Amino acid sequence: MELYARIVELPLVTPFTIARGTQTVARNVVVEVRHEGVTGVGAAAPSAFYGESAEHVMATVACLAECLGDDPFAIEQVFDRMNRSIRFNAAAKAAIDMAMWDLAGKLCALPVHRMLGLSGLPLPRTSFTIGIDRPEAMADRAAEAARRFSVLKVKLGSADDLEIVKAVRRSANATIRVDANAAWTPKEAVALADQIAPLGVELLEQPVPPWDLDGLRFVRERAQMPVVADESAVTWEDVPRLVGAVDGINIKLMKCGGITGALRMIRAARACGLKIMLGCMVETSISITAAAQIAGLVDWADLDGNLLLSHDPWKGVSVRDGGELVLPDAPGLGISPSE
Ligand code: MG
Repeated sequence: MELYARIVELPLVTPFTIARGTQTVARNVVVEVRHEGVTGVGAAAPSAFYGESAEHVMATVACLAECLGDDPFAIEQVFDRMNRSIRFNAAAKAAIDMAMWDLAGKLCALPVHRMLGLSGLPLPRTSFTIGIDRPEAMADRAAEAARRFSVLKVKLGSADDLEIVKAVRRSANATIRVDANAAWTPKEAVALADQIAPLGVELLEQPVPPWDLDGLRFVRERAQMPVVADESAVTWEDVPRLVGAVDGINIKLMKCGGITGALRMIRAARACGLKIMLGCMVETSISITAAAQIAGLVDWADLDGNLLLSHDPWKGVSVRDGGELVLPDAPGLGISPSE
């Protein structure tokens, strides 16, 4: 099999702010795996927080080419070879892994979710994310988003967190989830959770720093809503130590190395009795559609990263009113150019 990669620059509709910074452009890396005239496509959405950039992905993908071999169905073996060859760099591995799944599906003439035996499973509705801004601006964006989405994920970790949740609650008739992206101390998290619980917040994502598992446990024991780990739950190896500290984990292909890594993480989480969210970075429809293939296995979906782009060069999974995810029927991931 042969491997090709290129960087794509993807401007956002509006600047996207979370607790640790603002993003105006997403730089993804599109990867192609070719085998006997058939091409599988995947994409990496590297995050500086996890130590990756588009340039790192390009260099890593070149190094990982030797892991491919000649069998397009040896996906588990390729995944293990990649992880033995290079530690971390999960977005680069995710791009190759999803390209392998796309290729295998095309060779079988089956959509990936059907190859995996997931036909017929209902998919959770995706939330739409409201980035940090002034409370009134977030409330306006929430009101607009609530016309299309029944679930909103509100980013917190600013000076106005309580005001933000109140303003969004007033303006939007939708389920609200909040994500602090590790911005609070455990005591701050409990205090805010007490204040926002009566406003009907469904869950609280990553209130405290990733390493602070005792802090997560402290919050979980006191907050009147489920606590979900995101930055604390990177790969399947993180799952067992989160038992008791959180109610659920947020799995992202870019953290755990693609569909194969996510399936391992899902099995680990279920064995540990944890709920599962399937999330994303700011990414194209290539990798959002890859994640959507396994969305039937999870409780909550947050697959809106492609909707934050001013132009997505690809199309795949689509969103119906309310946030319903509709998978494409085409073989593999089912993605095609959007223009
Ligand atoms: Mg998060």
